[in-house]
Amino acid sequence: MRAEGMRRGNASAVLRAVLADGPLSRADIARRTGLSAPSVTKLTAVLAEAGLLAEHAPLEATQGRPRVPVGIAAGGPAALGIHIGLLRTTLGLVALDGTVISQHVLDHDGDLDPRRIADQAAAGAGEFLAARLGARTLLGTGISLGGWVDGDTGTVVEHSALGWDDVRLLELLDGRVPGPVLLDQNVRAAARAELWFGAGREVDDFVYVFFGNILGAAVVVDRSVHRGPGAAAGGIEHLPVSGVEGGPCACCGAACLSAVASDAALVTRARELGILAATDEHLPLERIVAAARPAGTGTGDVRAQDLLRTRARHAGRAVATVADLLNPSRVILAGGIVAADEYLTDLREEVNSRVHRGWNADERIVPSTFGTGTLVVASAIPLLEGVYLDPLARSGVDEQEVAS
Ligand SMILES: [Zn+2]
Repeated sequence: MRAEGMRRGNASAVLRAVLADGPLSRADIARRTGLSAPSVTKLTAVLAEAGLLAEHAPLEATQGRPRVPVGIAAGGPAALGIHIGLLRTTLGLVALDGTVISQHVLDHDGDLDPRRIADQAAAGAGEFLAARLGARTLLGTGISLGGWVDGDTGTVVEHSALGWDDVRLLELLDGRVPGPVLLDQNVRAAARAELWFGAGREVDDFVYVFFGNILGAAVVVDRSVHRGPGAAAGGIEHLPVSGVEGGPCACCGAACLSAVASDAALVTRARELGILAATDEHLPLERIVAAARPAGTGTGDVRAQDLLRTRARHAGRAVATVADLLNPSRVILAGGIVAADEYLTDLREEVNSRVHRGWNADERIVPSTFGTGTLVVASAIPLLEGVYLDPLARSGVDEQEVAS
């Protein structure tokens, strides 16, 4: 068993080296992993046969034979990511290197009943895969959403924005989307995506902070995402705020961060101010951002600018607390807040004016790597991670052939 464990570990090391620095020649892989050249040759052959690695065009050799680098296979297996948001469910097909092959959006049209959302996701996923999967192998389905989510029990424990309590989501989807089906909280899942494919590759610790329709944080220490008992870590939505209009929050009754700094709070305020009509349902945050931006000879809507700037300042106060408490090497920001990136300067200024230990927001705050793909890459990550941790589990190759 020990030898088998080593082979699995070695295959994982090869695949991860190629992900981190590829395409790489076999000699480079051997240098990076410390494996022997014959082992690397065998393992790359097995991983190529499994469709995980592919050869690239040969490089000119300075001496001897030309070197043939291998990279993560572009046409390799993919995972289906399903993100359930407040306004819509987003489906995405995500490749092994974390790139989004295709995305599709299903509008909720205001009906947030869990059964209805599950029905819509299952039917939508079937149609989406029929149209987009092609000849690729599907690794399975990853589902993520905000709030308090316990993937181990397949349960959305609490999602106040959706109005869900103790929803057994994996039961509702059982047998209706391609398995295996894995569930995680979307902010923690997005932090794992950054660890594998994004800004988290360069540092061992960071805090991922999401300001969108939901708010949440994921704390990464020693490259591990903290979950805590019941997977309840990461709640920042009810951090108290003071000296502001807005709120009180529907669930905690106080002026809290979600009541002043969520996308939903911005949209509500924009409707009150007449920046958005009461009936404007489609992409409301994007419309606020567009209204704020100068267009042609206009200077942009000052009220919309003020809303976005105020939200950025509130977010900055919360990030300053996180920075003082944890001194993270990075804070990775995501959600609607990065759609209005011209206000990140305000956010950084707010952080720098409030931290007490010299944490520098200009250097350490970075936006999420995945842009508009964040939600589906995060959803798919448990499946992709499974391949990198144990590529032979699904290679279908007899383990004995890989003995080194
Ligand atoms: Zn609250």
